[in-house]
Amino acid sequence: MHDDLKRYLNQQLDLFGDELILSEEVEKVLVDPEKKLAELKRVIESCRKCDLWKTRTNTVFGSGDFNARLAFIGEAPGRDEDLQGKPFVGRAGMLLERLLKTIGIKRDEVFIGNVLKCRPPNNRTPSSFEVSQCEPYLVAQLQLIRPRLIVCLGLTAAKTLLKVEYTLGQFRQNMFKYHGIDVLVTYHPAAVLRNPNLEKFIREDFEKIKRLYSES
Ligand code: SF4
Repeated sequence: MHDDLKRYLNQQLDLFGDELILSEEVEKVLVDPEKKLAELKRVIESCRKCDLWKTRTNTVFGSGDFNARLAFIGEAPGRDEDLQGKPFVGRAGMLLERLLKTIGIKRDEVFIGNVLKCRPPNNRTPSSFEVSQCEPYLVAQLQLIRPRLIVCLGLTAAKTLLKVEYTLGQFRQNMFKYHGIDVLVTYHPAAVLRNPNLEKFIREDFEKIKRLYSES
């Protein structure tokens, strides 16, 4: 608990500066993660830590259940997500919802977010600088939501959370831990839309997610 608290406070210091460090505030934060998530959302909405703020229409915080046992993390918002300020609302999002449905999980019972909160122009791969600037927000989200299982959708999410340089095939063959939370890696739905041959693999992975989720 002590280590958790220390890690939490260091992270808050990183995100909010010395504005936050008051003992009564800390207590409130620890008992009210939803309030803290709302504060974090406001911080992200005005973030200018990398140049992506210049071209965004909206930031995309993430959506779903903030008490979810299962969290899906993708790469970054695309055009539809940028316009609507919501994650996975375009074609890739529809595929994700279909896959969830096949394993009996509703979209609103999980948390869905991305590594980056702003859209990279033309959906290019995020730079390492952009990832490094935005990652603390994801870390804070996961620490506040505390899911039992994290599913990384694609390489950007997997490499950001797990800090290993595997191929997607290598990631898929293993289970990982992120601060004690189980992590599974599968393809990003956008990659499956580009290459339908991957669909059978992502379906296999969703069967595994179903089993792990029911055990969590
Ligand atoms: S991508 Fe992340 S770090 Fe960059 S401006 Fe948006 S919220 Fe800030």
